[in-house]
Amino acid sequence: MTSSSFEPPRRVLMGPGPSAVHQRVLDAMARPTIGHLDPAFSDMMEDLKGLLRAAFKTENVLTFPVSAPGSAGMEACFVNLVEPGDTVVVCVNGVFGTRMVENVKRCGGTPVVVADEWGAPVDLDKVADTLKANPGVKALAFVHAETSTGVCSDAAALCRLATDHGALSIVDTVTSLGGIPVEVDAWGADAVYSGTQKCLSCPPGLSPVTFSKRAAEVVETRQTTVRSWFLDVSLLLGYWKGEGARVYHHTAPVNALYGLHEALIMLHEEGLEAAWARHVRAHQALVAGLEVMGLQMLVDKAHRLPQLNAVRVSDGIDEAAVRTRLLAGHNLEIGAGLGTLAGKVWRIGLMGQGADLGYVQIFLMALERTLSDLGVRVPDGAEDAAHVAWGEAAG
Ligand SMILES: *Cc1c(COP(=O)(O)O)cnc(C)c1O
Repeated sequence: MTSSSFEPPRRVLMGPGPSAVHQRVLDAMARPTIGHLDPAFSDMMEDLKGLLRAAFKTENVLTFPVSAPGSAGMEACFVNLVEPGDTVVVCVNGVFGTRMVENVKRCGGTPVVVADEWGAPVDLDKVADTLKANPGVKALAFVHAETSTGVCSDAAALCRLATDHGALSIVDTVTSLGGIPVEVDAWGADAVYSGTQKCLSCPPGLSPVTFSKRAAEVVETRQTTVRSWFLDVSLLLGYWKGEGARVYHHTAPVNALYGLHEALIMLHEEGLEAAWARHVRAHQALVAGLEVMGLQMLVDKAHRLPQLNAVRVSDGIDEAAVRTRLLAGHNLEIGAGLGTLAGKVWRIGLMGQGADLGYVQIFLMALERTLSDLGVRVPDGAEDAAHVAWGEAAG
């Protein structure tokens, strides 16, 4: 066997994640590995937790990165809060809501599903009616930014509904954190998880989570032990707690955490509000360009995520052929539609570093070329329109 070092191709990442990673983050990850119980590493971890609290806009003590991707953050919230016999209302308007249902079942709970169309936000009235009809619900779970459709749901209102009915809220902010406002304390959210490879522009593999005091108390007063040893928050805390001796739980992914730390510093330097505004600007530039080309967005304007754009594939265009050609000919990755939207939409990510005019223009140019190669004629001027919209959005 003759194996050689892997040299990945240089790609422009404009799919649903991973997003483009800044060289500063890659450089941070290449620094020397030290022991995960080394006091120097502990200091970095303390700083990292503070940066995460700032990003989540929370004072929650229980805020730390789970050493595994976003799906593990999701699982951590469910296994710690849901016990056999609990009822959990789960909002499903895309792929990630269906995974929440699966999590409730595997914890021995009973999911009560509030289903909405893929491409529409979670319907608040239906959730209110469902909570009313099911007294004693343990938690309300929903996805803030549904990456499978590009829809934003009203997290503040949903968390309020949960609180009003005495239920905990479990919130997926994997695609929202760093891209659009996530305000854990202002929402009164209880268990919130995210990921690193979307709007934080970090490589995949870590899942920041935060638990409110109320959620922490629920974990402490469980009747049964948490079914997962690795994700049991009470055990994890022995390691992530600041003061006193850290107890070995698992070997933290040291270099991956250097990367997250650096990415959060970059977010802090730019400022959360500035980062959110940049995502909106890039989105407006993209939509202006797509409109010139005669392409339409899946989601109503009022509920669109700036960082994940689902674009309808017009009749007569081969959805998969366009993606294949973008990757092979332009080194540019976008996402396909999932589930009921397979073959019907492209998903264009403008996440983190990718939320910039340069990325939008590269994409529009590559799409024009690709469509033209496939014999589809579209009007000219998309890049110019994007440029103008980018300027206008600056105010
Ligand atoms: C990507 C994503 C996840 C899963 O994250 P992984 O890091 O792929 O495990 C969960 N929820 C949403 C909304 C996502 O976009």
